[in-house]
Amino acid sequence: MHSFRAAALAGVVLALGACAELSPWLSSRLPPRSVVDAISGNELRRHVATLASPGFEGRAPGTRGEELTVDYLVAELKRMGLKPGNRDGTYVQEVPLIGIASVPTASFCAGEKCTTWKLNEDFVGGSLFLQSEVNVEASEVVFVGYGLVAPEDERDDYKGYDVRGKTVVMLATEPDAMDIPGEVRPGSTRSGGSYATRALALARKRDEAVAKGAAARILVHEKNDPVGPLAAYAWSPEELEVEHRRLMHLSVSLRAEEEKVRELAALGGRDFEELKRLAKRKDFRPVSLGSLANLHVANGLRKFTSRNVVAKVTGSDPRARDQVVLHVAHWDHLGHDPARGIYPGALDNASGVAALLEIARAYASLPTPPRRTVLLIATTGEEHGLLGAKHYVEYPIYPLGQTAGVINLDALNPWGPTRDFEIVGTASAALQLALIDAAAALDRELSADTRPDMGFFYRSDQLEFSRVGLPSIWIRRGSRYIDKPPSYGREMNAAYFARDYHQPTDTPRSDWNYAGMAEQVKFTFITGYRLAMGD
Ligand SMILES: [Zn+2]
Repeated sequence: MHSFRAAALAGVVLALGACAELSPWLSSRLPPRSVVDAISGNELRRHVATLASPGFEGRAPGTRGEELTVDYLVAELKRMGLKPGNRDGTYVQEVPLIGIASVPTASFCAGEKCTTWKLNEDFVGGSLFLQSEVNVEASEVVFVGYGLVAPEDERDDYKGYDVRGKTVVMLATEPDAMDIPGEVRPGSTRSGGSYATRALALARKRDEAVAKGAAARILVHEKNDPVGPLAAYAWSPEELEVEHRRLMHLSVSLRAEEEKVRELAALGGRDFEELKRLAKRKDFRPVSLGSLANLHVANGLRKFTSRNVVAKVTGSDPRARDQVVLHVAHWDHLGHDPARGIYPGALDNASGVAALLEIARAYASLPTPPRRTVLLIATTGEEHGLLGAKHYVEYPIYPLGQTAGVINLDALNPWGPTRDFEIVGTASAALQLALIDAAAALDRELSADTRPDMGFFYRSDQLEFSRVGLPSIWIRRGSRYIDKPPSYGREMNAAYFARDYHQPTDTPRSDWNYAGMAEQVKFTFITGYRLAMGD
C-alpha cells in the first residue's frame, strides 16, 4: 500500500441475506465450486512465507530482491500453466525507472547572521529533479501560511504575491486541522482536518507552488502531526520515478521541525507564533521572513529497468477474447536499510501477490476458461507512487478500451473470516453486478469503504487505472468479523497501522488466520471470473 478522496462506490451496502439457491442461469456464469474450494489457505501461507523471507531482502525494485521475486512469480505461474501475459511471449513487462538518492543541505542568512540545518534532525527532503546537482541560491524565504488555493473554501493564501524563484514556507496541515486531533470528516473533500483531504491538499499545495514559480518549498512540521514524527516523512535512501513522468515537482522540497522555522523567522526579526495566528485567517497575505535560503541537493541518479510480471488465461469465446479483465497486486516493497534492516512487507503486499498466485492457479485449473481473457499483473514500484500501474496504463498490453475492469488486492485479511468485503474504487455496472453475484455465491455482503478518512482510494494501484477511466476497484478486507466483537476489525487495523505498517515488523505471524484470507481470495476470483464471463 502506498503511503498516500473522491467518491467511492457511494452507498453500496447490500445485505444479501442467507445464501439462496442460485439460479441455473447464474450458476452457469460462476466458476465450478470445486475450483473455488481448491483455493487454499496453506498455499497462501507458503507464498507469503517465501516472499516475505529475509532472502528476498524486502523486494525493492532494481535490487537482488526484485530478481528473486520476479523469478519466483514467473516460475510459479509457468508451473501452474499460465501463458505469458506479454505479446512478446514473456511473463514480464519492462518498466524503465529512475532511482534518485537525494542528499540535501540547507542554510539561511539574514544579513550577516546565518544558520545551517542538520539533515534528519532539523529537516528531511530532497529533490526529484533529474540532475546530479540542484542548487537554490540566495532565494528569498516567504511564509505563505497554509499555501492553500481553495476557491471552494474562499481561500487564496497567495493573494497574488509574487513567489517566482522564492523559497515558500508553508504549514503542512490545514487551518484548524491541529485543533481537532484525531478528528476526521469522512466524505469531506474540503480542507480542514481529515487525514485523507490533507494528503490531497498536500499535492494541491505543491502544484500551486510549482505553478506560481516557487523554487523551493519548506513544509512546517508541527509537533502534534497526526502521521507521526519528522522521521516518518524522511525520504527513502532511494526514491523512484517513472522515466517519463507527468508530475510537477519543485526543485527542492523539504520538511522542517517547527522549532527550526521559528528560529529562522526570528533570525529575520519575525514572530512565527504571530504569523501562524494570522495564517488561519482568510485575509492572510504572504510575509517575507527576511532571510535568504541556500539549498543544495546532491542527487545520485540511477536508471534501471524494473518489471511488472504478467500472465494470462486466453478467453474461451472467440468473439469476447479480445476483451480483458485485469487482476492486479503489487509485488514490491521497501527493501532494506542499514539502520533498520529488512522490510519484509508480509501483509503489504506478499499477501496480495500470494492471492494473485492462488487466483492464477484457480483460472488455470478451470475445465473451460471464461469467455473474456484474464490478465494477471504483479506490479512494480507501487510503494514509490504506483509506478508499475502508471506504466501499464501508458503502455497497456491490451487496449484500455477493451479492458472490462481492474481488480486490485493489497494487504489482505489475516485476522479471520468476515461477513463482508469492502469495495474501494469506481465500478462499472458490469463490475458491480459481478461483485453482487460473487457475494451471493459465497453468502457474503458488500460494504462501501468504512474508512474514507484513510484515503485508501489514493493509496494503491486501482487509482492509476481509475485515472484513465477504467472501472477499477480494490477489494479490501471486510470489517465485520465472524464470532468477534464489532470493534475487533477496527482494533486490529489500528494496531497494524500503529506498529507494523511500512515497518520491519510487517512479518508473517504464526497466529494469522489464512481461512479469512482464502475467503477474500475466493471472492476476488469469483468476481473476476464473473466479469470475464460477460453477459
Ligand atoms: Zn505499502
